[in-house]
Amino acid sequence: MKSAQPDHSLSSRLPARILVVDDEPRLLASLASLLRSRHYDVTEAEGGRRACQLIDRQSYDLALLDLRMPEVDGFDVMAHLASRQPDCGAIVVSGESSFAAVSRALRRGALDYIRKPFDPEELLATVESVLGKQSLLRSHEHIQMRLEKSEALHRYIVNSSPDIVFMLDGDGHFCFVNSKIETMLGYQPQELCGRHFRHILDDRDVARGTYALNAPNISADNPRTLEVRLKTRGSRRANRHFEITAFPIDPETWPRTDDEGHGNGREARYYGTARDVTERKEAEAFINFQAYHDLLTRLPNRALFKDRLELAITHARRENQKLAVMFLDLDRFKVINDTLGHAMGDRLLQAVTQRLERCLRKGDTLSRFGGDEFTLLLPSIHNHEDARQIARKLIKALRAPFQLGEHEVFVGVSIGISIFPEAGADMDQLIQNADIAMYHVKARGKDGYRFYSESMSIDTANRLSLERDLRLALERDQLKVFYQPQVCATSNRVVGLEALVRWQHPKRGLLYPRDFLPLAEETKLIARVSERVLDQACRDVGNWIRAGHEDLRLAVNLSPMQVEHPRFVETLMDQVRAHGFPPQNLEIEITENLIMNDLEQISQKLRELADLGVRIAIDDFGTGYSSLNYIHRLPIHTLKVDQSFVRAIRGGEDGACIVNAIIAMAHGLKLDIVAEGVETGEQLTYLKNLGCHQVQGFFYGPARPADAIAKSLGHVTAAAAAF
Ligand code: C2E
Ligand code: CA
Ligand code: CA
Repeated sequence: MKSAQPDHSLSSRLPARILVVDDEPRLLASLASLLRSRHYDVTEAEGGRRACQLIDRQSYDLALLDLRMPEVDGFDVMAHLASRQPDCGAIVVSGESSFAAVSRALRRGALDYIRKPFDPEELLATVESVLGKQSLLRSHEHIQMRLEKSEALHRYIVNSSPDIVFMLDGDGHFCFVNSKIETMLGYQPQELCGRHFRHILDDRDVARGTYALNAPNISADNPRTLEVRLKTRGSRRANRHFEITAFPIDPETWPRTDDEGHGNGREARYYGTARDVTERKEAEAFINFQAYHDLLTRLPNRALFKDRLELAITHARRENQKLAVMFLDLDRFKVINDTLGHAMGDRLLQAVTQRLERCLRKGDTLSRFGGDEFTLLLPSIHNHEDARQIARKLIKALRAPFQLGEHEVFVGVSIGISIFPEAGADMDQLIQNADIAMYHVKARGKDGYRFYSESMSIDTANRLSLERDLRLALERDQLKVFYQPQVCATSNRVVGLEALVRWQHPKRGLLYPRDFLPLAEETKLIARVSERVLDQACRDVGNWIRAGHEDLRLAVNLSPMQVEHPRFVETLMDQVRAHGFPPQNLEIEITENLIMNDLEQISQKLRELADLGVRIAIDDFGTGYSSLNYIHRLPIHTLKVDQSFVRAIRGGEDGACIVNAIIAMAHGLKLDIVAEGVETGEQLTYLKNLGCHQVQGFFYGPARPADAIAKSLGHVTAAAAAF
């Protein structure tokens, strides 16, 4: 007898439990003791009825049955066993040896058949082998079951994942996609399988998405992550943002996907997940927007403006291009804000923003810099003229009144312009210089634009010393008046002289108006400067008039501050009379912007002067308001065509058209016209052909001191004679 341990590999817990059933007590006892000798756990049942009771009560691994028993026989017990404990095997131990009985027993589920009287060794071997087979069978079942369970588990995990899970073949076609895709994007997993993944990529991301899949060095340890937009199906929401993580599957370790589920028999080469990050994106976008925009006007804020400017400068430097920075400051905003309240002020800022935005081209950046200040970046311009045109457009756009509730308000804008690279090599310089230029517009009557020039920014230390010097200059008579001839181009006679101030600085040499007039205006010394110039000019030109040049005209420039002074007319006339200067020989030069600042007041003053015989000229005509409505309502005698238009007379540039228009208009209004800045014979001929006969410029000579001018008065000038 083998004394080996019974095989109970499956349970590996306890000895196998065996139920032994026989109505013959001796046989039952001997069977039981034989099995117990092999350490099986044996239960005895004397008869079928008792066996069925035991089967109901506890479980067995194997039953050894007699077939022929009274009342409840072996077949009945097998039937009962099959229904209650299908896992329990049965071996028939019977004296019945008919074919019919054996086959019936086997059909009922008996695993083996041992004939009585049995050979103990044979019986034990059969029991052992049946138990062994059974455990093997059970362990197979167990694995199968575990597999099924784990597959179900994986399917569960995959489908209830918060992300889309997918597999692609080597060409990027879907082999598998979990059901999440339906709730997230509206596709059925089955319809996508076999389709290329670009089918669901937003068109804008196709190139990026396709490229990413083929990127080198991606693996499970180093997956590829990228953000793309995926299309939603049908008329669902807008496309959504996903973060895709994907890596190639090692073909050694991954089986072919089967047709079951959503696979389609293609070989999976990539595994990936797609996480919906739309909300995060939207939150980010909003935070970003807040950080970089002004929420009132929705314009870029200072930080974003600086970012864009920085980029634009880098680009312009590389491409050797120009760019313009404008600094805009609203005129009269503070008054409106204070009188109508902040709510109205806010509405006004929004309305202003809308109008300004309409003047811009794609690529320009308008930003709210703070309060009523705006900055504008024109990233690529060809020349100053481009910026000039935009500045004019902006000024014009704000000219019409704004309706705020029942209030109609007027705001103007002062614009300072700095051009890269002339006005500054870096961002801070460009902004600062545009600001300085804007300040000069404010100082010279507001509502207009100016380009930055170096003379505008004298550093503070320099400024203080210059201011002190200027006060001294007034006391010590260092200011000089130079005269530039205004010549009749047909007769070549000097018909007028424009008085232009110069400063003979003891250390710095001869200074020009641009070097000190802005400072004079800021410090309000301009009134004294002008008084000095007018005094000197009345004296000089008065002498020449009395010497025989009765028609000689004296043109003087007036600053807005002077004209806006309430006692302007009296002060001016007192001075003129003090020198006995004939008013009809005097022409004052003022700018368009000055007039528009306070049309009522100014036109009143001009009318008084005109009535006294003084002539009025509009200086730098064409650079300010393009509206000409006011001209025929004002006592104006002369238009001075700005130098920039004259300069543009070169082989029929656009600027020349403006000259044509201004001259035609002046003729229509019966106004005199003086062209400034005439430097070449070509310009002179062009102007003469248009019927503009009075010119001023280097062609006939620059402004010169009184003694130099005296000699040429009334004479044909040398340059002109040669022409
Ligand atoms: P503006 O009234 O437009 O004067 C014309 C300027 O152009 C003068 O510069 C003159 O020297 C210059 N110019 C004349 N012909 C030519 C030319 O052919 N080519 C070029 N490139 N330039 C030419 P300036 O003397 O430096 O005066 C600059 C500005 O200063 C004047 O512009 C005027 O607005 C102001 N200004 C001059 N004197 C006075 C003054 O006594 N009082 C006031 N309030 N302003 C003055
Ligand atoms: Ca002038
Ligand atoms: Ca001028």
